[in-house]
Amino acid sequence: MEATIDAVVTSRERVTPGFVRVGLRVRDGGAWSSLNVPDEFVHLEVGAQTPDADGHTSRHYTVSRVIPGGFEVEVAIHGHGPGSAWGESVAVGDTVRVSEPKAYYSAPAAHIPRVLIGDATALPAIARILAEADGAESFRVVIELGSLDDARSLPTAADASIEWRVGGNGMTASTIVESAAREAEAVMAQTSRSQDDSSAPGVYAWVACESSVSRQTRTRLRRKPGLPASALRIVGYWHADVQRLLDVWAKLTDEQRAQYDEIWRDDRSDEENWEILEPYMKVLGL
Ligand SMILES: Cc1cc2nc3c(=O)[nH]c(=O)nc-3n(C[C@H](O)[C@H](O)[C@H](O)COP(=O)(O)OP(=O)(O)OC[C@H]3O[C@@H](n4cnc5c(N)ncnc54)[C@H](O)[C@@H]3O)c2cc1C
Repeated sequence: MEATIDAVVTSRERVTPGFVRVGLRVRDGGAWSSLNVPDEFVHLEVGAQTPDADGHTSRHYTVSRVIPGGFEVEVAIHGHGPGSAWGESVAVGDTVRVSEPKAYYSAPAAHIPRVLIGDATALPAIARILAEADGAESFRVVIELGSLDDARSLPTAADASIEWRVGGNGMTASTIVESAAREAEAVMAQTSRSQDDSSAPGVYAWVACESSVSRQTRTRLRRKPGLPASALRIVGYWHADVQRLLDVWAKLTDEQRAQYDEIWRDDRSDEENWEILEPYMKVLGL
């Protein structure tokens, strides 16, 4: 996902105290097309000199809305990095390079209830998932914010319960692991009462937040309530300890890197790959 497509900033507005929404028009209209998946995201060249955990100078942002000729992103202003600084300072008329989109959300049939859990960085994706859902879908949503001042109305045609919590976001301990387990278990208790086939998980859980928290959430949901990989999409959206990870990565031997690469196989889903890769990452100190 190289950020090679030129875009120009056409709008900038403060959504809530901690969020800035930026409208981008792609210069060559045909160069960028939406995947029409509500958590699709792009890489943006925000002028960073420092790498993210994948070693890129670009930063990831969700396409919060597709607009004529381009799209919008919503930047959480956390105050520590070039992406956040870009959101603070960007102005109409500025240019930025963007990538083609990529996406992870893959919800099963509409009658399977969805659980959406995330921190502030997940709010743009959760807002779009809800905005694009239809009336047959149902959601249990928990969003953890640094401040409730960033809570906002999330319109949807679906049946949705939305809980806002204060915590995490690099400020205090996160309760996302417990929230995800609680919500998934609540849905499963409901669906097992109303379903003949009690072996089916009866829930789809999408979780996005700080990476160590997302990994703990995956472990927890796989262990208890015992969700299969097919019922999960859990994504680390940012790293609280980017520099430490980059340092550990830089010191890995060629053999360790080769073993890491071998574990990630294209014939497995990402969730299946992560389940096998994470114990090895722990061994490596990643
Ligand atoms: C698929 C995907 C979609 C994403 N969508 C969005 C989105 O729509 N909106 C959005 O705002 N973010 C989104 N993110 C998260 C965003 O890419 C990261 O927060 C990114 O690290 C921001 O870059 P930065 O340059 O501000 O900070 P970095 O240079 O990456 O990090 C600098 C310092 O800031 C800290 N930091 C980074 N992010 C945060 C944070 N969110 N809260 C507190 N401290 C932080 C780091 O720990 C580090 O110490 C998404 C990430 C992914 C993977």
